[in-house]
Amino acid sequence: MSAVLSAAERAVYACDPAQSRGRRFAELAAPTRSDFQRDRDRIVHSTAFRRLVYKTQVFLNHEGDLFRTRLTHSLEVAQLGRSIARALGLNEDLVEAIALAHDLGHTPFGHAGQDTLNECMAQHGGFEHNLQSLRVVDHLEERYPAFDGLNLTFETREGVLKHCALKNAQAIEAQEPGGVARRFLDRTQPSLEAQLCNLADAIAYNAHDIDDGVRSGLITMAQLQSVELFERYRVQALAEHPDLAQPQRARRLLYETIRRMLSEQVYDVIATTRANLQRAAPAHADAARLAGPLVAFSTEMKALAVPLKQFLFSQLYRHPQVMETTGHAQNVVRELYQAYVAQPSEMPQDYAHRADTHRAVADYIAGMTDRFAAREHERLTGRKWPA
Ligand code: MG
Repeated sequence: MSAVLSAAERAVYACDPAQSRGRRFAELAAPTRSDFQRDRDRIVHSTAFRRLVYKTQVFLNHEGDLFRTRLTHSLEVAQLGRSIARALGLNEDLVEAIALAHDLGHTPFGHAGQDTLNECMAQHGGFEHNLQSLRVVDHLEERYPAFDGLNLTFETREGVLKHCALKNAQAIEAQEPGGVARRFLDRTQPSLEAQLCNLADAIAYNAHDIDDGVRSGLITMAQLQSVELFERYRVQALAEHPDLAQPQRARRLLYETIRRMLSEQVYDVIATTRANLQRAAPAHADAARLAGPLVAFSTEMKALAVPLKQFLFSQLYRHPQVMETTGHAQNVVRELYQAYVAQPSEMPQDYAHRADTHRAVADYIAGMTDRFAAREHERLTGRKWPA
């Protein structure tokens, strides 16, 4: 296998659009695009995708212009995913489609929004953002004359449904026997392209949360020196570029450290996965689904990533300043939920008239951007988001 494969050189275990399990509603093939390219294009043109620009990852959208949003995060996942896919001979178009769609179901205000909506919906089927991403592409987008949703291929939908509670998997399986939820019941893997997107997601957010965290002043380079995965590459960067030790070059030192950390993780995934693929030798995409997780970090890299995650969790995601905004965000989502359930007519007509009010409210709130949710909250309660 050559070190760099062109997009045309796909491996036997890659998903092949010509062998796709198809769409929920049959459509004629596009004259110039493969089915996975077409999925990617549909996702980019969707309403939910445009809203990602105003949805929070960790920092609220109005806190600063330089922080990642769900849109920039999704683009970074697609970029990392595609470069790894190219090296492994996987289908880049499918990886890109899954990566761009993977966060479409996220609520406003990041995990605070999702957890609160899940609590509100506890007696009404709950709320899971991965399942919501599937709902967005299967039902909530309204763009086509003949069907709801974007009518994506099985392979893209399979990748979008990254996790799923057992009871939700059973419900989907009942509606779509042998469909995208089946693997959660059979405990098999999704395609290699979907496995790759999960890893690219983690690589991307670990790196950009360090970047945004330091830039925001909530965590410092000095604190990060206790994290081996970071410190190793900081020391390496300083050894090669001693001038980066100057305080006015601190930003460059941060970027160079993160850049090396990202590259090493990417190379690690490629090398480990190549070895796994050589050992398992799946003859086609379905064989790869049955072979256990194949797209993976080495044991060493996996172990190194744990303290980084723990650091980010305790020092950034649980930082008092982040927790304070999290508290406001929870109140906004909870009070919006209560207001719409009490008065569904406060929602647009197509939500207000749905038979299942609770699910309609969850869908409506989940689709909101951070700023729209804050505005609606002010309209309905008369209270401003605390300055
Ligand atoms: Mg993500």
